[in-house]
Amino acid sequence: MNKPILTGPAQDSLRLSDITCCPRCRSTIAGQGAQTRCSNAACAYAADGFPTVDGQQVLIDFESSIFDRETYHDNSGSVLDRDVLNHSIGSRLHRFTFGENPVAGENCRTFVTLAKQRSPRPRILVVGGAKIGSGAEHLYDDPTLDVVGTDVFSSPHTRLVADAHKLPFVDQSFDGVWIQAVLEHVLEPIDVVSEIHRVLRDDGLVYAETPFMQQVHERAYDFTRFTQSGHRWLFRSFTEISAGPVTGGGVALLWSIRYLFRAFGVGDGVSRLAALPFFWLRFLDGFGRGRARADAASGLFFMGRRSDHALAPSSMPQYYKNQQLAAG
Ligand SMILES: [Zn+2]
Repeated sequence: MNKPILTGPAQDSLRLSDITCCPRCRSTIAGQGAQTRCSNAACAYAADGFPTVDGQQVLIDFESSIFDRETYHDNSGSVLDRDVLNHSIGSRLHRFTFGENPVAGENCRTFVTLAKQRSPRPRILVVGGAKIGSGAEHLYDDPTLDVVGTDVFSSPHTRLVADAHKLPFVDQSFDGVWIQAVLEHVLEPIDVVSEIHRVLRDDGLVYAETPFMQQVHERAYDFTRFTQSGHRWLFRSFTEISAGPVTGGGVALLWSIRYLFRAFGVGDGVSRLAALPFFWLRFLDGFGRGRARADAASGLFFMGRRSDHALAPSSMPQYYKNQQLAAG
């Protein structure tokens, strides 16, 4: 059963307190600002409360998170230097060499169209949204969406800080979840996808982009890669709407060139410059076909719908074969 449709400007129409809960025990949140705490007297966060950064609640269960409470004492909570506005020289160099995301913009439009078929004012959770994902701009320029940006640190694009292993939202709060370039950075991707499933309404939408052939980025906070089949299996409790490569083997080769130089100890800046003359390799991705292209992909996407039935393990070999057949 959907909640009543809210009206008014996107930022004002949704009261976060209507959908947030304690990340540990899922009781309601009491208090405001620096006094935010769990309403369940038996929960540790009733006494300890939750910190805030830049006026945003940090609803993290620190006992089970890679991030500790001290991280959120006196800054945005970011453990790395971040370019959330995407304006740094490094970000510009990266865009010139690796190009723009060739699929996310179109996929985002499809995602929003499908979300609006569910509700005239869809509620969208963005996990890892401190920096607007490449191609995800459409989520932010549509005033009929209620977008709730979250990340492990605050930014102008987030409304609260959360660890995706324990999303601080009540069950079935959202019509869609957008999670772009995040699942490689979590310790337990299956737990995160299970949380996405929990906070989505029936038939709710998910859009994920996750690297396959990419070297380590974000340093100490990079843990996992997925093949297209592995990515499908991760979202086994969702029906597939569409899936495939974000970028192919040409971009994967660019990553390898950059990291070959980086392995010599020349640093991030010089390795970016070293890869720059090879930018043309990314145009080779236009020649890739079907599953063979996905087998070489730099990154993969999956768009799906929440389901009550999980894929059977025995269906996975056929999943690969179907894509070979579709490619002809
Ligand atoms: Zn609690």
